Amino acid sequence: AAADLNDQMRALQAQGIHSVMTTFTDLHGVPKGKLVPLDGLPAAVTTGAGFAGPSIWGTGLPRMGARSEYFGRVQPESLRPLPWLPGVAHAVCDGFAGGEPLATCSRQMLRRQLARLRERGWTFHVGIEPEFFLLRRGADGRWQVADGEDRLGKPSYDLKALVRNHGFLDDMRGHLAALGFALQQMDHEDATGQYEINYRHDEALAAADRFQLFKLTAHSVAAQHGAVFSCMPKPLAHAPGSGLHCHISLTDAQGHAVMADPAGPMGLSTTGLRFAAGLLDHGDALAALCAPTVNSYKRLAVSDSASGTTWSPVWKAVGENNRTCVLRTVEGRLEWRLPDASCNVYAALAATLAAGLDGIHRALPAPEACDDDLYQRHADGGPLPPRLPRDLHAACAALRADDTLRDAVGTAFCDQFLALKQAEWDAYAQQVSDWEQQRYADAF
Ligand code: GLU
Ligand code: MG
Ligand code: MG
Repeated sequence: AAADLNDQMRALQAQGIHSVMTTFTDLHGVPKGKLVPLDGLPAAVTTGAGFAGPSIWGTGLPRMGARSEYFGRVQPESLRPLPWLPGVAHAVCDGFAGGEPLATCSRQMLRRQLARLRERGWTFHVGIEPEFFLLRRGADGRWQVADGEDRLGKPSYDLKALVRNHGFLDDMRGHLAALGFALQQMDHEDATGQYEINYRHDEALAAADRFQLFKLTAHSVAAQHGAVFSCMPKPLAHAPGSGLHCHISLTDAQGHAVMADPAGPMGLSTTGLRFAAGLLDHGDALAALCAPTVNSYKRLAVSDSASGTTWSPVWKAVGENNRTCVLRTVEGRLEWRLPDASCNVYAALAATLAAGLDGIHRALPAPEACDDDLYQRHADGGPLPPRLPRDLHAACAALRADDTLRDAVGTAFCDQFLALKQAEWDAYAQQVSDWEQQRYADAF
């Protein structure tokens, strides 16, 4: 391995790389890290790049006192020159403390779930679909869409906005290609200033690593174009929000898709139906990890009339090519529409996998296929499937009560996650919003 690393360092040096950006993901899903000169790489691989543990969300190290150290150990296979930061290579780290893998490291948590799957000889594939806005701050300090020129009532797939923002999109294309992403498409989404970029699916850990790199790249490129990349789930009250749909499938050791059956209900095999049932059964607790901010629940709501159909999930149901359900089946795979990009993608995928496997393990009955437009049913006052949690507080309560998911993400991670989310909820609950003042100040 040391010889391999020397070869890798020589190859990086030949490409003009002088530094390594060592990165890890904190509990909130935010990439963090530091720059290390290339000759520091061997130590960053063996000992790890050192960080002050108490400064990192979710390490659990603050309680160990001021001297606790967090080490991000570089995973050499992840090294990639950053096309948008000449001379710097990006590297993904696993978290260690006291020479041991850190229990709260979300990346290792996902790896533990994947190891369970490998015992069956199966592989978890995920295609992650980032939706996002390009924003900027207006003169009044408020956030607004960077390119406010789009005045269409329904700007989905608007080509004029795509052309106006071609500078950003084309830089993304070039950089993502250089980083090894297989780009599939870019479009203007349903709201003014909202975009989606799709690239090829991958094995789950690689997909999660890639998404972290995607965000970093998008932040950097947007800044170069005078905008802010925002994957806030619902930045504007009267416009559709941004999801992070995950297309999921499982293959066996022979590469066969175990969840697909063209002759089965909704194109799913018995295994696929049980996996889907597991996601619906654990849906409330999964919401805490897949949609983990106060703001997430403003996306997961019935559209107001001004924003038209937002296509965000509200109800726990599955339907064939049905975008009004939290699970849409597409050609034998599942589109899991619950996640948004405020999640820690490693934790969200680990919990999602655990929930699906639990559905298989318990041989849960096949969920009923939902063929109706649920927004329409809602408007008509018809019967509806159970709703997803309405707020972060309810989602966290469900996670607290769900032993299967708590085990999957580990109690160390779960306890810290819930404590931080409780504090986030409490801080939010103390706010008095403009809406409240407008509605109540002189009303009574
Ligand atoms: N933006 C929608 C959401 O919040 C999804 C739109 C789509 O289906 O692409 O999930
Ligand atoms: Mg979309
Ligand atoms: Mg989608």
